[in-house]
Amino acid sequence: MYPMEENKDNHMKDTMEGQFLPLFTISSGIGQEILPDLYCYTNQIVNVCLVGDPAKTNEWVLIDTGMPESFKKIIEIAEGRFGENCKPKAIILTHGHFDHVGAVVDLVKKWEVSVYAHEAEIPFLTGKKSYPEPDGSVEGGLVAKMSPLFPNEPVDLGENIETLPSDGSVPYMPGWRWLHTPGHAPGHVSFFRDEDHALIAGDAFVTVKQESLYKVITQEMEVNGPPRYLTTDWNAAKKSVEKLASLQPSVAVTGHGTPISSKELSDGLEKLVNNFDQMAIPDYGRFVNRKH
Ligand SMILES: [Zn+2]
Ligand SMILES: [Zn+2]
Repeated sequence: MYPMEENKDNHMKDTMEGQFLPLFTISSGIGQEILPDLYCYTNQIVNVCLVGDPAKTNEWVLIDTGMPESFKKIIEIAEGRFGENCKPKAIILTHGHFDHVGAVVDLVKKWEVSVYAHEAEIPFLTGKKSYPEPDGSVEGGLVAKMSPLFPNEPVDLGENIETLPSDGSVPYMPGWRWLHTPGHAPGHVSFFRDEDHALIAGDAFVTVKQESLYKVITQEMEVNGPPRYLTTDWNAAKKSVEKLASLQPSVAVTGHGTPISSKELSDGLEKLVNNFDQMAIPDYGRFVNRKH
């Protein structure tokens, strides 16, 4: 266990405070058990995963922490599933974008647990580096146009952040391994379990066209590349999708959109891999360097 000192939270900085954004999907607030030990909760427009089987253990891990100002909702969901005063063994982040670290500082203060992330993501979680400002000029729809309103100033988790183990194992998640899937963010990771091919993809690919407000609200299912307005390295993003597709996942929870499985998932990934340039990469935008 990570030794927690008193007043450690004094070293943290919560740039997500007061950053509530009125964006919702039809499945917002809904939780769904994907597997006995994989629960997906949709917080406004982003998914949060609770990993651990409450019928067998009270040990669990929280993957990602939702939108800004979602602290109370996440506690409610966690208590509903694991009982009152439950706390996870750790919080693990797919990456540090605002919609995945929204409640992280408050959750660390309450639970006093360590947060794990890929080492390339650490500067964005310790207040040292800001992500580039979201690209509001990118092709794709209203959410993309609204994206300059999204906070890009990093949170600072101080000493509460740890690097994911270099051997690929995932703390407190036996059987799972983390995979570096950069492109959307430099230290973006996904989580895969070889036994049943379960995948927690983060934003490496998503199952909704996240740039489009209409599709975000209706959650019309389509396997798509990472959210465009924040993806800075499209070559790496493409390789990451290929890497995940090659694992042949049986079920996937993505950072945005509804969970997906079986043929819908394999067909969707195949289509995305084969048509990545057309489907995922925007025709124009600050982070694209496409020759017409
Ligand atoms: Zn993201
Ligand atoms: Zn996201």
